[in-house]
Amino acid sequence: MSSPTARPVCLSIAGSDPSGGAGIQADLKTFSALGVYGAAALAGLTVQNTQGVRDARGVDPAFVVAQVAAVVDDLPVAATKIGMLSDATTASAVAGLIRERRDAFGVIVLDPVMVATSGDRLLAEDAVEAIRADLLPLADLVTPNLPEAGVLLGVAEAEDVDGLREQALALIRAGTRAVLAKGGHLRGDALLDVFADAAGVADLTGERIATRNTHGTGCTLSSAIAACAARRGDTRETGVSRAAIEDARRYLADAIAAGAGWRLSRT
Ligand code: PLP
Repeated sequence: MSSPTARPVCLSIAGSDPSGGAGIQADLKTFSALGVYGAAALAGLTVQNTQGVRDARGVDPAFVVAQVAAVVDDLPVAATKIGMLSDATTASAVAGLIRERRDAFGVIVLDPVMVATSGDRLLAEDAVEAIRADLLPLADLVTPNLPEAGVLLGVAEAEDVDGLREQALALIRAGTRAVLAKGGHLRGDALLDVFADAAGVADLTGERIATRNTHGTGCTLSSAIAACAARRGDTRETGVSRAAIEDARRYLADAIAAGAGWRLSRT
């Protein structure tokens, strides 16, 4: 037998989507596709399919923390993606463990999941404050979409790209290390995301792909960023590199293009 080789390990702390498009299921598929070893701690359960969310239930916060602790006790995690955390108690409990053992989580990508594209709420109202106060300061990168950026700042949703740039910078001024504000909800043919860190703000452009199969793209992007950061050797000192974000955006665009013609839903 040849000698064992190390493989970057990524951890997702997120919710389940049994239909396999979003949440933990999307994260693990993404980790595998990008060649990293994926671990996953379940922070919430949903009953959903590609059409919408029928029900959602939290997992006992102590049980979520125990899952995460079991992973980091054993595996050398290079990057962590945090997604749906269900409620304030879970968000604060996870933040507490990360604070205690920050070195065990590698770079942290926080996807502040709040509402599904279908309009269904995925996070209890009181959890927004826990995410803002407890998790944002621990994240190396936060990836809000247009509505989530507004909610994190406690202001109205941006109406255009200038507004999105302003909100990304406002999150940096509030102490966030780096922000990828996703402009997918903005009208227009172009697809524009905004990256901001202490050095300023930059536009990242892309092409909009015409397809119905976009459920879970936000989850996929944040886990792809974690995987690409782990592959590039990003550390807490470097933060999440722009190169890792660009790799992940390319991966997502290719994945959407590859699946654009698939017929998945029966309806
Ligand atoms: N379900 C879970 C568990 C999620 O984490 C998310 C988003 O992050 C969604 C559903 C929503 O996915 P979408 O808005 O792409 O439909």
